[in-house]
Amino acid sequence: MIISRKKFLKITGISMLAVTGEKFAGNFAGAMQSNSPDSLQALNAGRWAMVIDLKKCAQEEGCTKCIDACHRSHNVPDIDDEAHEIKWIWKETYHNAFPSDHNEYQAAKIKHLQVPLLCNHCDNPPCVRVCPTKATWKREDGIVMMDWHRCIGCRYCMAACPYGSRSFNWIEPRQYIAEQNPDFPTRTKGVVEKCTFCESRLAKGKLPACVEACPQNAMLFGDLDVAGSEVRRLLQSEYAIRRKPELGTKPEIFYIV
Ligand code: SF4
Repeated sequence: MIISRKKFLKITGISMLAVTGEKFAGNFAGAMQSNSPDSLQALNAGRWAMVIDLKKCAQEEGCTKCIDACHRSHNVPDIDDEAHEIKWIWKETYHNAFPSDHNEYQAAKIKHLQVPLLCNHCDNPPCVRVCPTKATWKREDGIVMMDWHRCIGCRYCMAACPYGSRSFNWIEPRQYIAEQNPDFPTRTKGVVEKCTFCESRLAKGKLPACVEACPQNAMLFGDLDVAGSEVRRLLQSEYAIRRKPELGTKPEIFYIV
């Protein structure tokens, strides 16, 4: 999908910042562009967030384009066994995704609505607090990162995450990758993995793979710190909910219902 620069800026509400060899560029306030031909045009934000419009998402019944794009892009193994499966983005029924938001009169179409789920990049992430090796941490722009080389496979983060957003490689994953993306690392048996808000794509000036792949434009990605961003505009104009807000983790994935 090709998007114009104008549309792109509208979607994200952010500026382009050029960086040279630096993976994670400085903050958005000082946005500037380098003239170096080798520089990468990284996308930066004060606080990344995603808004998923479930009404739009539901228009394409059975669609898995966001999942396919994400998993292809990140070499997520396709293991057809629930005990061993790895998932960065997946779908659950509304009933399972939002267990506290139901009543006996709820329409079946809501109850069984398929909801895309991923790491919430919580503002107050319990997974980060429990990691003994700092293999997972929160960046200044809010992205909850993973360093697979530092992960010792203790799975404390999995126990701490109330959203099931992390998967553990119980078996050697590489044999289950049909077509490897050479631009992204593969993982090994014994480490935890999850969505990273496509930080490596952002560093190259690209939107997250799921956002780009959605044919309904149901997923919007942008900067919560910018008042005029599309994510802020949507949250002002539409009713949106987050998963398990009562836990105080402050998810940065919002769902318009
Ligand atoms: Fe951590 Fe889970 Fe929140 Fe993601 S959703 S930041 S893995 S607690």
